[in-house]
Amino acid sequence: MTNNQLQQLVEEVSLRYFAKPFCHHARFNSRLRSTGGRYYLQSHDIDINPRMLNDFSIVNLINVIKHELCHYHLHLAGYSGRHNTPEFKQLLRAVGGSRYAPQPKHVRWLKYRCLKCGRIYWRHRHLDTHRYVCSYCYGPLKLES
Ligand SMILES: [Zn+2]
Ligand SMILES: [Zn+2]
Repeated sequence: MTNNQLQQLVEEVSLRYFAKPFCHHARFNSRLRSTGGRYYLQSHDIDINPRMLNDFSIVNLINVIKHELCHYHLHLAGYSGRHNTPEFKQLLRAVGGSRYAPQPKHVRWLKYRCLKCGRIYWRHRHLDTHRYVCSYCYGPLKLES
């Protein structure tokens, strides 16, 4: 999905669920990590984490858009647009948006190095370095990152 398609989608969701137009900019921002999207109070623009679509689904993307549009429309209507206000909770419930963005799946790799021969081992899980040694030289392993 391109930024233009995202812009169109946000405009559609806004008209359909909020019965108000979205007149600012929406774009993907891959620097967003733990949040699904962000609404900017100064510019009124919306950034969306591309992983909301890539790791999940279009339904999830729309839920995140609804969430950000709750900030947008409440803020433009003169409310603070913060999460903990009754207005926010009410509007979010009414449009069926997501309360929290799902956490992107992090595939975490751990790097172990043999202190004797320097061989690198990549593992998903922690190794018990007291029990496991290098399979080539039987040297001790050390977690590097
Ligand atoms: Zn929010
Ligand atoms: Zn070794």
